[in-house]
Amino acid sequence: MREYPPPEAIRTLYTPAAIAARVGELAHAIANDYAGRSPILVAILKGSFVFASDLARALPLPLRIEFLGVRSYGSGTVSTGAVQITQDLTHPIENQDILIVEDIVDTGLTLAYILGLIQARGARSVRVCALLDKPSRRRVEVPVDYVGFSVGDAFVVGYGLDCAEQYRNLPALCELLQVPDSP
Ligand code: 5GP
Repeated sequence: MREYPPPEAIRTLYTPAAIAARVGELAHAIANDYAGRSPILVAILKGSFVFASDLARALPLPLRIEFLGVRSYGSGTVSTGAVQITQDLTHPIENQDILIVEDIVDTGLTLAYILGLIQARGARSVRVCALLDKPSRRRVEVPVDYVGFSVGDAFVVGYGLDCAEQYRNLPALCELLQVPDSP
């Protein structure tokens, strides 16, 4: 059987232990800032599902979890700039404190769209927690309040992030070196 993932296709950037340590630090900062409040975590699907589940379990706060499905890329690795809602929130968010949980902020186009949507629905406050930030690729300015790791221009997979729906299940954050074959 072929090794999965093929070792020549990916390079580890952050190990599961490094990710867990950073998630703990983020949770500590968020718990301090939200002391006495009950935020709603809005996890952006699909890419943030692993991060959001670890972050939520590290937060000693009464909180609710909602999912917002967006599609910003086709099946490749290049931004189209177009954002499509694939799954909407299940409850109103008027007068609520919202913490958006994103996998990665790249050009900022997706987050700018999501922020507009959350604000238009009357949230009391909105903050953003992104596992990864690619500041050098920003095309629109967006506020990112909590960042796990800043990365360069690499295309990152694993820990929820995909390439053409592959590699979301890798426990580490990895740089993609070769685009995967279809399964
Ligand atoms: P933006 O709109 O900021 O350019 O892109 C945001 C979305 O594009 C992310 O939520 C993510 O789904 C996808 N994306 C951007 N960079 C990467 C990357 O390096 N790896 C993966 N897997 N997705 C990315």
